[in-house]
Amino acid sequence: MNASETMVIVGAGHAGGRAALTLREAGFTGRIVLIGDEPHLPYERPPLSKALLKGESDLAACSLFSEANFIASGIEHLSGVKATHIDPARHEAVLDSGVSVGYSKLLLAVGGTSRSLDLGGRSFDNMHYLRTYDEAVELEKHLTPGTRLVVVGGGFIGLEVAASACERGCDVTVLEAGTRLAARALPERTSEALLALHRREGVTIHLGARIKRFIGETHVEAVQLADGTCVPCDLLLVGIGLQPNLELARQSGLETGSGIRVDRYLRTSAPDVYAAGDACEFPGIDGGFQRQETWRNAEAQGRIAALNMLGQEQPFIGVPGFWSDHYAFGLQTVGVLAADARIVQREGGDGGFLLLYLDSRSRLTGASGWGLGNSIAKDIKLCERLIESEVVLPVDALADAGVSLKGLLRGAYA
Ligand code: FAD
Ligand code: NAP
Repeated sequence: MNASETMVIVGAGHAGGRAALTLREAGFTGRIVLIGDEPHLPYERPPLSKALLKGESDLAACSLFSEANFIASGIEHLSGVKATHIDPARHEAVLDSGVSVGYSKLLLAVGGTSRSLDLGGRSFDNMHYLRTYDEAVELEKHLTPGTRLVVVGGGFIGLEVAASACERGCDVTVLEAGTRLAARALPERTSEALLALHRREGVTIHLGARIKRFIGETHVEAVQLADGTCVPCDLLLVGIGLQPNLELARQSGLETGSGIRVDRYLRTSAPDVYAAGDACEFPGIDGGFQRQETWRNAEAQGRIAALNMLGQEQPFIGVPGFWSDHYAFGLQTVGVLAADARIVQREGGDGGFLLLYLDSRSRLTGASGWGLGNSIAKDIKLCERLIESEVVLPVDALADAGVSLKGLLRGAYA
């Protein structure tokens, strides 16, 4: 580790912020330059669609750094600045101000951008997207009782915003193109539980919804669906997925697929350039490449990338996982939910359940749970340990919630 080295991080979001902190925590005393096109210090995004929209959180509570910690860290934060080019041969990052910053090692932690609806060149003053703190603050101002909110997309953003808005007294309608909610990430039973809960709370949900047109000139007054339904609208939120920010990597000549391609040490195809977070495509267990768009992935990859920038050789072998909160309920998932896995269902109290995904040798590969508050968290933690242990499980006994997962971990059930 050389104090005369300069570490440059492009993207001052979760993975970038975690990497900067890790560099210091690991004893790096050289220059750290954190370049971010948002005006804020790095913050965590999960509260944006939950506590922040309910008026229960603020930027300081979401921030990875307190102001005092940040000053003490001696990290240079170039805010509101975009990196427009990386020159791996010269070891330089070029900024939109025209300034170049030399680097010893560089991390690309550039995240993604909300996928936009194709409006054929039109724009509407009441249409919102949600990725940043500033967008959350803008959206929150409009969540007043009685506001007719139409949400396009029944994925995580759409449903978490629907829950927060409903709790604020809005009249909410969700338009989901697919046949079930959050279908790409969740098991069918969890999609059903989400659907039933949102409907119980008063949200109108259209599955298989095809938007025919937005009625209104500059302000959406109603959304007309292909089946003729017309949904009145004061406020529109679009949550139809994420596009990873790949332009910078592509035009700098780095290898990309569905993300910035890295090896298991999070090294890109350019020497001394690493990538982490939502924009990063890493080797999966099946021999292909995968991207993950989760808090857990950004947290782990930001940390591992930083350690490897300091010369360590730590492979990234994180078990995937995420959570989502809706009204009084929460869902959590850990591991891989393979389509061909054997699924064992364990029933919990208050309508909660745990789905255990087993491979052909009866080892746990993934688990997905649903329950009141944070009630599923303990079981999901145990499932993560069961996945890591690769212990062979007694399939016939697993459905019995009385059989302790902790016991299984200790090999107590024979
Ligand atoms: P980001 O946090 O997006 O950071 C990337 C940063 O880089 C951004 O600030 C971007 O503006 C900046 N940038 C991009 N290009 C450049 C450039 N050229 N120059 C300078 N800066 C640049 N995950 C969960 O697991 N559970 C949840 O409950 C959950 N809730 C979420 C709620 C919301 C509303 C959102 C938006 C996401 C949520 N996520 C959740 C996902 C999680 O927040 C993301 O996976 C995580 O933020 C990814 O971190 P990242 O650092 O890769 O990207
Ligand atoms: P998402 O989870 O991919 O969900 C988008 C949903 O919109 C999908 O169900 C998709 O259906 C549907 N859709 C796509 N086009 C549509 C259209 N034209 N009309 C109606 N529905 C349409 O993406 P997101 O909810 O926008 O979230 C964006 C990012 O934030 C992701 O990275 C996500 O992981 C992250 N996030 C995570 C959490 C969490 O983990 N708790 C919470 C909030 C945000 P198809 O799948 O059929 O395309």
